[in-house]
Amino acid sequence: MRIIKVVLFLFIALSCTTKQEQVQSNTLSNASVGEKPKNVILMIGDGMGLSQVSSAFYYQKDSTNFWRFPVIGLIRTSSASHKITDSAAGATAFANGQKSYNSAIGVDTDTIPLTNISDILSTEGKDIGLVVTSSIVHATPAPFYAHAARRYQYENIASQLPGSHISFFAGGGLKFFNKRTDKLDYIDSLVAYNFEVDTTSMPDGGDYDINKKYGYLLAPDGMPKAKERGDYLTNATQAALDYLGRDPDGFFLMVEGSQIDWGGHENNADYLIGEELDFDKTIGVVLDYAQKHPETLVIVTADHETGGFTLAADHANKMDGDYNRIAPSFSTSGHSTTLIPVFAKGPGQDNFGGIYENNQLFHKILDVLRLEPQKKE
Ligand code: MG
Ligand code: ZN
Repeated sequence: MRIIKVVLFLFIALSCTTKQEQVQSNTLSNASVGEKPKNVILMIGDGMGLSQVSSAFYYQKDSTNFWRFPVIGLIRTSSASHKITDSAAGATAFANGQKSYNSAIGVDTDTIPLTNISDILSTEGKDIGLVVTSSIVHATPAPFYAHAARRYQYENIASQLPGSHISFFAGGGLKFFNKRTDKLDYIDSLVAYNFEVDTTSMPDGGDYDINKKYGYLLAPDGMPKAKERGDYLTNATQAALDYLGRDPDGFFLMVEGSQIDWGGHENNADYLIGEELDFDKTIGVVLDYAQKHPETLVIVTADHETGGFTLAADHANKMDGDYNRIAPSFSTSGHSTTLIPVFAKGPGQDNFGGIYENNQLFHKILDVLRLEPQKKE
């Protein structure tokens, strides 16, 4: 009789396990999160679905750096408001650990500000850096330091950068600091917060003073396309590593290949692939750094896919389709909701395999660092 009761109890307990609980237990079951990294580098290819990643394998002259990752996962990117996310909700999930509505910048579904990963990691003494090819106030970088009800409140977002926990940043967006509708000058504000601001060029050598902060605003809005901006992304990422690597407590760096998404929106395969290959080269810079500094965890992922991009054959729907000739094509000028790959290498890498929701990435990073999410006071 007793055995029957136990079996019955187990049956009921198992059948009550909902999908939600399974998602949670996925996170809670990471009893062994592996080694603890000192540095975490999160690289986001905006709009970089699996076909965008695949293009690096077919259009890269040298071997792509994606071969170098031992751990791969998949994330589901839907936001709290839409099956198909935008970049603001996607980055809010990564930076703040919660799904919010499309257009949200570091706020929850009631527009209440959330604590971001920069706030949490800076209490551990880690330096925080951002390197992007969009403007620094754009939807992907913004949730790492700012809170706004709508993503296009660029001047509001800019005004939150000087006093944030960011100590190194590079990207475009100068006009949101010095040509504002309110006539305020937030370059002065950055300087008042101990930033050295450069609006003309990246430095050649990384001769940085860790007691200062550094900001590069190198275009009025977004940076030029990969073909015109040259080695900006690799140089800025290397400069960030030179500066942040001096912090004995370690660092968190977010690097965004922002314009992979823009090529997708334009349905412009050359633009998209140029951005993907530039991002790939930058992954190489980051993995080379991690090889020399093995206490570094590298994670590469995307916020969503853009363009419904695919690498089918030329004339594939005709009898004379040539399976040796790829003709990239698009199914939308917007985003899609296909699952997005996550690549990880370094201490704690095994925590990033599997299939999970985009906001779990935040919790997985805190898990490997043995940290808890915090409530906003
Ligand atoms: Mg972006
Ligand atoms: Zn987009």
